[in-house]
Amino acid sequence: MSKAQAIVDTMLESFEKWDKAYGSYKELQAVKTKQHQLYKEMGRAIAYERELARAGLKKADVSHPISGGNVGATHNYKRQVEITRCPKTNSFACRTGGKELPSDTAECPECGTPTVKAKVPVPPSDLRKKYANYIVGVETNDGRFVWFEEPVPPASAFS
Ligand SMILES: [Zn+2]
Repeated sequence: MSKAQAIVDTMLESFEKWDKAYGSYKELQAVKTKQHQLYKEMGRAIAYERELARAGLKKADVSHPISGGNVGATHNYKRQVEITRCPKTNSFACRTGGKELPSDTAECPECGTPTVKAKVPVPPSDLRKKYANYIVGVETNDGRFVWFEEPVPPASAFS
């Protein structure tokens, strides 16, 4: 039995006990909410471990995780993100220029040209705001910064 399955079974067992002992709607809801939160945290923990594995690291190699909000000037963070934009960058014919458009945009809303995907550096303001609570990498015990391929979102992003 997997570790995750064992946790779920234990939760379901305690859920049944609560059900028998207390039965009221309010208490059931409290347990369900707690269970849901636990699922979300498990989702985040699994995503975190996947990124560690992808970077060839073990949990024991990690000194501490680094969130977007923690990234400072000395961290030399050079990750790129994929954005959707109009190909008419630097064109006077299109005012959206190189600006990011919603990822499902098929045609430029300004000039109607089919959009393209482009890799751009993560703007520092995005690290501070958009990715503030994402785990973007770790500092290892031997003092290296290792950046994740995909930042791990906060628990609230998992359902
Ligand atoms: Zn355009």
